[in-house]
Amino acid sequence: SSILQVRNIEKYFGNKGNVTKAIDDLSFEVEPGEFIGIMGPSGSGKTTLLNCLSTIDRVTTGDVIINGKKITSLNRRGMEKFRRQELGFIFQDFYLLDTLTVYENIALALTIQGVNTSEIQLIVNDITEKLEIKSVLSKFPYEISGGQKQRVACARAMVTQPTLVFADEPTGALDSKSSRILLESLEKLNQDLNTTILMVTHDAYTASYTNRILFIKDGKIFNEIVKGTDTQYE
Ligand code: ADP
Ligand code: ADP
Repeated sequence: SSILQVRNIEKYFGNKGNVTKAIDDLSFEVEPGEFIGIMGPSGSGKTTLLNCLSTIDRVTTGDVIINGKKITSLNRRGMEKFRRQELGFIFQDFYLLDTLTVYENIALALTIQGVNTSEIQLIVNDITEKLEIKSVLSKFPYEISGGQKQRVACARAMVTQPTLVFADEPTGALDSKSSRILLESLEKLNQDLNTTILMVTHDAYTASYTNRILFIKDGKIFNEIVKGTDTQYE
């Protein structure tokens, strides 16, 4: 069954006389283990959609169900708890903690969850080996490159094995070589750990790494490409 169900959601901003409909009756589902892309131009509703799916913002109408839980019915505390326990995030601007080392940045969520130190070491060791960032574990974020920072952010997002990882323009601050390495890393984590990833981007090259791309415009899905099928030519 689906890990994410989006049912007829709408999101309005503003109030009477000055209303923007940012999301317009949008529905789709995501299966476990998918690497799905949401693509659209600036102003199409990507950020709003991501915020509504990830408990950062509330929909105006409709339902979002993640892992069988109707998150649109949760109160504020419930949403925060759900986010902490079940979701991972990767942002355009990394958001690493500058006073902590790379190791500490990645280990933090596990420490908070009460995982013991030796187990944390094993987990961090394993994921940083996959992401080829083991050599920078003792460095601080300001001592490493943008590409390395984003792979640290990936490790941090995935180390707790979240139900669903949201990536918002993850290559937005990276040069083309670092972008390619990052996208190959996401692809590898998706395959090796079977992590479900939903990535939002305006960039076709970035979207091309996903298994399926939903195209949005004016808050609506207007097309879909599933990689490895040629239905669009039939
Ligand atoms: P994208 O991420 O694709 O650039 P957004 O989700 O940021 O698109 O915006 C979609 C539409 O909703 C735009 O018209 C934008 O101006 C509007 N919008 C987004 N956030 C707000 C907000 N907090 N208040 C008012 N309008 C908003
Ligand atoms: P992106 O770079 O993802 O397209 P935007 O620059 O559109 O994001 O928006 C950045 C932030 O500003 C988002 O949180 C969005 O909700 C908010 N925002 C966008 N448009 C408006 C608006 N017209 N009024 C108020 N906030 C907005």
